[in-house]
Amino acid sequence: MMALLEVEDLHVAYGKIEAVKGISFAVEQGQIVTLIGTNGAGKTTTLRTISGLLRPSAGKISFEGKPIHSVPAHRIVQLGLAHSPEGRHIFPRMTIEENLLLGAYLRKDQKVGEDMAKAYAMFPILGERRSQAAGTLSGGEQQMLAIARALMCKPRLLMLDEPSMGLSPIMMQLIMTTIQELKSAGTTILLVEQNAQAALSLADHGHVLEVGRIALSGRGSDLMHDEQVRKTYLGEE
Ligand code: ATP
Repeated sequence: MMALLEVEDLHVAYGKIEAVKGISFAVEQGQIVTLIGTNGAGKTTTLRTISGLLRPSAGKISFEGKPIHSVPAHRIVQLGLAHSPEGRHIFPRMTIEENLLLGAYLRKDQKVGEDMAKAYAMFPILGERRSQAAGTLSGGEQQMLAIARALMCKPRLLMLDEPSMGLSPIMMQLIMTTIQELKSAGTTILLVEQNAQAALSLADHGHVLEVGRIALSGRGSDLMHDEQVRKTYLGEE
């Protein structure tokens, strides 16, 4: 079966500094694939390159079998690849509803209202507060809004960068449950996380990034039980 997303020998540099040094992985339809690793490993750089916000210095990225590494970012969104960035980047002075509409601005179909209703059904707090400024939401609620906004472009692949960052344990659990629900509803997800435990417990497949290279790959459940992963990323002796 052809993978939905295929990354082959990807290299990305900031000037002379190579942040991603030849990584390869694939995401199959319906899977959750996670990239874990410490600060600076190259996870965000990888997602931003897939989204077309950065250009690779070498390598290939294919989406549904077609190369996308030279395609402009707005076209990549139209192809069905949505990116919920690290730090959420919601627009705090705009209402929740306006933030959601921005997620749909490239759509030309008439079903935006239907999908807005779905977003409110999934995250009732967003519906209750739809006319309020997004900046009044808590951190966890803003993360919900960032995910809901990414879903408003009806993605074939949803990329989430550190969705648990800065959240309380309860909110983090809620976000992880949401990701599991999205998968059950058929959404394919590429998840970047520093919270390795949470990410691996959800993922079909995981890749451990270390300074721009994939150090280890495997099924989420296998990596969770790997001794090296447990020591390095799950804080166990
Ligand atoms: P984090 O969890 O901290 O975001 P990460 O795994 O996502 O870590 P990246 O943000 O992709 O890592 O960073 C990879 C490397 O590239 C790091 O060494 C970082 O300092 C460097 N880097 C990231 N952004 C830039 C930039 N705009 N200019 C120069 N170097 C950068």
